[in-house]
Amino acid sequence: MSQHEWLEKDFYKVLGVSKDAKEKEVTKSYRKLARKYHPDANSGDEKAEERFKEISAAYDVIGDEKKRSEYDEMRRLGPLGGFRQGPPGGGQGGSTGGFNFDGVDLSDLLGGVFGGRGRGAGPQQAGPEKGADLETNLHLSFDEAVAGVTTSVHLISDAACSTCKGSGAKPGTRPEICSRCGGRGVLDDNQGMFSFSQPCPQCRGRGRVVTDPCTTCSGTGMERRPRQVKIRVPAGIKNGQRIKLKGRGGPGRNGGQHGDLYVKVDVASHELFGRKGAHLTVEVPLTYPEAALGTKLTVPTMNGGTVKLKIPAGTASGKTFRVKGKGVASGSKTGDLLVTVNVNVPASLSAEEKAAIEALAQISSSPGRERLVDFAAKGDTS
Ligand SMILES: [Zn+2]
Ligand SMILES: [Zn+2]
Repeated sequence: MSQHEWLEKDFYKVLGVSKDAKEKEVTKSYRKLARKYHPDANSGDEKAEERFKEISAAYDVIGDEKKRSEYDEMRRLGPLGGFRQGPPGGGQGGSTGGFNFDGVDLSDLLGGVFGGRGRGAGPQQAGPEKGADLETNLHLSFDEAVAGVTTSVHLISDAACSTCKGSGAKPGTRPEICSRCGGRGVLDDNQGMFSFSQPCPQCRGRGRVVTDPCTTCSGTGMERRPRQVKIRVPAGIKNGQRIKLKGRGGPGRNGGQHGDLYVKVDVASHELFGRKGAHLTVEVPLTYPEAALGTKLTVPTMNGGTVKLKIPAGTASGKTFRVKGKGVASGSKTGDLLVTVNVNVPASLSAEEKAAIEALAQISSSPGRERLVDFAAKGDTS
């Protein structure tokens, strides 16, 4: 709510209280008016709805000690330059009083009234707060990542206090059921075709009111504790991928929802296989004769079997062959096995090998290096 709106409307008048009214009196009057003009009780009555909004907005300010003193201060100082001009686009929608709800989102408005979700809420306003999003790492073997696995992650995070079981109340005492919401923690507001569930302002959405706080957690209902969270990792997950576990993060406060847990997957490498998305890769060394003459290879697959692969004569080193459907199965798709052959040049030779290779060298045709020699010769003369 902008400052000019604060100035234009007498919130005390809206709530039917005097400027010196005590907090209790303000709340009492607000509840009485809110009940009277509540859309539930005035189905389809637009005037009542407008009135309800006004009352809610006024209580948002007057019902909050900090906002109320700001409001009083601003009214005491009087309008400052520009405040009365209103926001761009304001005042076009047939507003009658000085107060203008055009462009104000109803849920924002109610959120503000019912504790801290509205923009610009004061820091000490304890509204429902979503729990923290947490991140943890999960180490998987190569096989587990390929096949998928159900496992657990361990983390230390905020959890419900073990002394008070998250109630925030001292053991032996019990939080009392909130009189306002009957323990539900929420109040329903039916606005025409829309229905909003708003956290109860009295119990801050907890449904219970703590009168004697737990000493372990000082009434917060939370403590740091190691936790174990079960996780089902889908087949074919990639290294570095994050899995989101909704609602498994830190616990929310004041009836807010839990945060999310992000599990970053760290996949170990395999002694034979590599991954390229859904494809598996494997390298197979070939001898020069195998590459030159062609051969048949037996290549292992991830599931423990083997496949036969025909290498044609005259295969270059580094060439990759594709074995369909022997990669990673994830969902309905299965990748391929990519077999890359590398011609092996031995670092040392037996006498027999050496003799054979020397014989080969004698009869080998030129590898086509003349062009390089010619190019170098030209460079020399210029
Ligand atoms: Zn506790
Ligand atoms: Zn309540």
